[in-house]
Formats: sequence, C-alpha cells, structure tokens
Amino acid sequence: MDVSIVIPLFNEDESLPELAEWIERVVKENGLSYEIIFVDDGSTDNSWQVIMNLRSRNEHIKGIKFQRNYGKSAALNEGFRAAAGDVVITMDADLQDSPDEIPELRRMITEEGFDLVSGWKKKRYDNKLTKNLPSKLFNAAARQMSKIKLHDFNCGLKSYRRNVVKSIEVYGEMHRYVPVLAKWAGFRKIGEKVVEHRARKYGVTKFGWTRFVNGFLDLMTIFFMGKFGKRPMHFFGLWGSIFFLIGLGISAYLTVSKIIDFNYPLTNRPGFYMALTSIVIGMQLFLAGFIGELVSRNAAGRNSYLIETKAGL
Ligand code: UDP
Ligand code: MG
Repeated sequence: MDVSIVIPLFNEDESLPELAEWIERVVKENGLSYEIIFVDDGSTDNSWQVIMNLRSRNEHIKGIKFQRNYGKSAALNEGFRAAAGDVVITMDADLQDSPDEIPELRRMITEEGFDLVSGWKKKRYDNKLTKNLPSKLFNAAARQMSKIKLHDFNCGLKSYRRNVVKSIEVYGEMHRYVPVLAKWAGFRKIGEKVVEHRARKYGVTKFGWTRFVNGFLDLMTIFFMGKFGKRPMHFFGLWGSIFFLIGLGISAYLTVSKIIDFNYPLTNRPGFYMALTSIVIGMQLFLAGFIGELVSRNAAGRNSYLIETKAGL
C-alpha cells in the first residue's frame, strides 16, 4: 500500500465528509493505493456515525474509536500502530490542512529519502497573538534543545517512512514533538515543506490556554529525557555534589575560624546560612539523582533498543 492517512479527531463531524472526499480525489488523481484511518478520540457528536457512513461506501476508509477522550497523542499512537502504508501521513480533521499536499509529502519520502517531512504553516490562519507568538517561542526553544532545524514542530500535517511510526511511541502530549521522538529513535533525515494552512471551517479549536503550560512542561521532559533520561545521576548527582562541596568548604572555613578565635560570631556570618542551604540542597539533588537512577534501573524499557538489521541471527 502506498500511503496511510492517519487523522486524529475529536468532535469534527461537520468536516469529515468534505475531508474524506477531498483526500479520495487527490489519491485517485495520483494513482496511489491508500487507506484513511480516522481515529475518533472519544467524540461526543456524530463523528463515529459519519465515519461509518463514509466507510459503507468506501472500504479504504477505516476507523478506531476510543471509549473516551485520551488526547491527540494517544490517537496518533493508535493510528500509527494500525497503519499499513509504506508512507504514513498525518493530518488534522478540521480542514486546516490541505490534502493537496499529500503527493509531494509522499514523494519527498520515497524519492528524496527523507525519514520524516514536517509541514510548515508559514502563513497561518489562526488568532495572531494568542497562538502565533507563543508558537514562535516554542519552536525556537524546541529547535535549540533538539538541534532539529524545523520551523513548525507542532504542524499536524507530516509524512513518515513506515519504519519511523513503528519505532516511536507518542504519549502524553508529545504529539508536539514527534520529530524529536523520531530523532531519538535514530531517524536523522528530517525535512520540511511549506504547506498551505487554512482557517478552521467548522467547529472550534480543541486546545485551550493549557496548551502553553503543557507544551512548556513537555518541552522540559523532552530536554531532560533526551539528555539525562537514562542517567539521572549525571545531572542531579553532579549538581548535588557541587552544592554539597560548596557547603562543606564554607563550613570548614567557619570551623577553622572558630577554632582560631573562640569569639568568632559563627551564626552571624552570611556564610553560615550559605553553608547550611548548600548542604541541604546538595543532599536533595544527590538523593533525587540516586532515586532516579534506581527507578531507571528497574524501568521496563531499560534494555529495549531499536535494532535496524541483524545478520546470521
Ligand atoms: N484532537 C484530538 N483529540 C483531542 C484534541 C484534538 O484528536 O483531544 C484533534 C482535532 O480533532 C483535530 C486535531 O487534533 O483534528 C487538531 O486539533 P485543533 O484543530 O483543535 O488544534 P489547533 O488547530 O487549534 O492547534
Ligand atoms: Mg486546527
């Protein structure tokens, strides 16, 4: 199969028929064999009925329905597990992403050898201040931390080599950073294509202001997991030791001063409090690192590596 189109959706019944029709038209014009996988993330409107209606006239349309709303990441993850195409393309269900981009996104994978191609909504049709500015900041931070040169990490429109989606697990709200997950899994050829972005035609956005808080926290997770996920002691242990040693040094100085001059006003010195806090902070950090290390030693995935090929085994 040439291409699987994975579409996560939550209460988008108005958009679905138009979207399905448009995708069908594009893949037919380009002679692609395909499947469309709608992942209904616990919609409470008629989305699932609409998907079943679409399926009754086109068996290439498939569906997965969650019992409740788990979030876009979960929906993508299940779509990825199910996808059978050589190239997997994700897009939003709200008609903000144009299916006309499918052939080129696929071509960049099959002919130009990219593992992942991310859309770039260079010209956006969202509310300017509340979305565009924070999104610019996020992208700059994500670019810095991951060293992946993308302008628009969170674009819903992306294409993947099959291998990529089978190698990664999208959980929590990590859908914002799928390229980072792909890079961790060893897929380095990550490309970008400017895509057309359109105003939302029906319904409303499903992410409120919490997107900024969650996005920021997930960025931190990405950063720490990537750098110290498998060796927490190297971060916490290092800083813990540094703080502890600073505290110890100051204490030693104060102790010596006290021995030399018994009238030395120990508890009046700023150093006394610095030593105290440094030692406490140092021990806290060290303990966090040590406990982290114990946890990671017992983690189920501690020895799961992605093996590309084997010979003679
Ligand atoms: N979505 C989802 N589960 C959720 C929230 C959103 O599957 O819990 C889907 C939504 O239906 C849409 C896509 O994710 O297809 C992007 O969401 P939305 O358009 O609301 O985000 P925005 O374009 O405002 O960033
Ligand atoms: Mg949208």
